Amino acid sequence: MTDLGMPAIPASRSQLVTPGLAFSNWGHHFTAEQNLDLKAAVKAARAPLSVIVQVTKRCNFGCSFCSETLQIPDPTLKELELMRLHLAGVPRIFLSGGEPLMRKDFGEIVDMYYEDHILAVPTNATHGLQHAKGIAGKIAFANIGLEGPRTTTTRVRGNYDQIMAGVHALKDAGIPLSLSAVVYRSTLSALPFTCQIADVLEAGKVKLIMPLRKGNALDLDENEFISDTEAAETFARLSELRTIHGWRPALRMTTWTPENEGHMIVIEPNGVARAWPVYDAPDLWERLGNVLEEPIEAIWERYRFKENHFAKYLGRSIRTTTHTEAGR
Ligand code: SF4
Repeated sequence: MTDLGMPAIPASRSQLVTPGLAFSNWGHHFTAEQNLDLKAAVKAARAPLSVIVQVTKRCNFGCSFCSETLQIPDPTLKELELMRLHLAGVPRIFLSGGEPLMRKDFGEIVDMYYEDHILAVPTNATHGLQHAKGIAGKIAFANIGLEGPRTTTTRVRGNYDQIMAGVHALKDAGIPLSLSAVVYRSTLSALPFTCQIADVLEAGKVKLIMPLRKGNALDLDENEFISDTEAAETFARLSELRTIHGWRPALRMTTWTPENEGHMIVIEPNGVARAWPVYDAPDLWERLGNVLEEPIEAIWERYRFKENHFAKYLGRSIRTTTHTEAGR
C-alpha cells in the first residue's frame, strides 16, 4: 500500500506472459526474447496477446480523426461477465471506448477483469477524477490521447485543460500513464512537446499513430496525411531528439503497412469481434465472430492476421525505441 492508503502499482519491471514473452511495466508493451521464432509463437498460440473491449461507444469528445461515429448500446455488466469468461487466456485487455470512463460503473468492470488480465485503459482522461482511486493498483496503465500542447490538442482532439485535469488525477492516484498521439502534417511541430510532456509525466511510452480514413477522418484535408517516408523521417528525428534531451518514455510509431493490416481485435459493445484495420473491407472492419456466443479460441482460429498481430504487439512491424530507466 502507498502512504495514501491506495494499493501500490506493481514495481516489478516486467511480468512473464508465456515462456519467452513478457509484458514490460516500464514501457507498457510486450517484449520477447530476441531469438523468439515468431511463426512458431503464432502456431503455438491458442488466443490473441491483446484484445480491445469497447465497454461503450459513447464519448464526450468529437476528435477530428475519430472512427467511432456509430452508436451501439453499452454492454451490461452481465454481458461483460460473459465476455470475460470467453476471453480467458488473453494476456492483455484494453478496456476501451468510446470513452470508457464515461461509464459510472467502470470501477466494477475493472474489478471484474483485473485479476485475470493485464488491463490497459485508453482514455481522454476527462472523467479521470471520478474513477482514479477506484481503479488504482488494478490497471497496468492508462493510455491518454494527447497531441501535445494546449492549442494543438484542443484543435485536433478536445479541451486540453479538461484532459490535463484528469491526467493529474490519474497520476496523483499512482496510475502509470502512457500517451497516444495521432500524427497530422499540421501537428508534426508539436510532437517534441508531446514527448517532453510525457517525460514530465513519467509516462511509459508515447504512441504515434497515423490517422485512418474512416469516420471523422474522412473530412480531414488530404494534406494532413503524411507518407510512410515522412513518418520514417519524423520517427528518426524524434528518436534523435529523445537522445539529446534525455526523454525516458519509449517511442512507438505505427503506420498502415501490409505488415500491420488487421493486427487489432476489437470487441464491440454487442460482442461482435472484428479485425481492424482491414484496408479493403467496408469501414475497414472484418467480422470474426461474437464473444457473447463463443470463446476467443474459436475466433482466433478463423482470424487471418495472426502473424501481423504478434509482429505488431512484439514491436517487430512498427518503429520502436525502449523506455530508458532512471540513472542510465
Ligand atoms: S477518438 Fe476517442 S476520445 Fe476522441 S471522440 Fe473518438 S472515442 Fe472520443
